[in-house]
Amino acid sequence: MNVLAVDPGSSESAYVFLRDGCPVKFDKVRNDVLRAMLSGDTWYGWLGETPEDVLAIETIESYGMGFAKDIAITLIETGRLIEAWGGPYRCIPRKDVKLTLCGTMRGVNDAVIRQRVIDHYGGEAAIGGVRCQRCKGKGWRGRERTPCADCHDEVEVFEHEWPGTDGHTWVTKGSGWRVSPGPLHGMAGDCWQALAVALTWLERNGTP
Ligand SMILES: [Zn+2]
Repeated sequence: MNVLAVDPGSSESAYVFLRDGCPVKFDKVRNDVLRAMLSGDTWYGWLGETPEDVLAIETIESYGMGFAKDIAITLIETGRLIEAWGGPYRCIPRKDVKLTLCGTMRGVNDAVIRQRVIDHYGGEAAIGGVRCQRCKGKGWRGRERTPCADCHDEVEVFEHEWPGTDGHTWVTKGSGWRVSPGPLHGMAGDCWQALAVALTWLERNGTP
């Protein structure tokens, strides 16, 4: 099952594309760029592979006292993104993200949600990408280019440990990494929120 999750904004939106639970493509881009991606085939032909594949898009549900112009524009942009996709979609209220991932609304902010997402993938090693200090990330040392002993091992870090990681084979032999890049390496900003939306949809549909 594949899911494209979007955290929409008034001018830019963050997206994460998950294949069998593993984020394989994510970024924050201008809305017109994302609309072009949604209407074209930018998902390796994987999105729409099974009937369960959806666009999961976060929606604002509580407007409080002030209905800011930015929120109005975000809602319009959300509709444009859904239209550009043209396939099945689910609106995921932020309340559902909090309740599903954290079990409570109380005290849940972006940082708490981010940590919960990291926990879901097994902790900080899922980010990884820590360079070897001994060889400064080169994987070898000296004029003879001797393989660095500190990052020279043959452990394939998460090929079998993470669900749905086909296409990700990290070989750590002389890799230059002290901790190899994990599936969440490079994730930043609003992409965390988009990933939380994806996990919410997957968990609510009984997919681990
Ligand atoms: Zn090294």
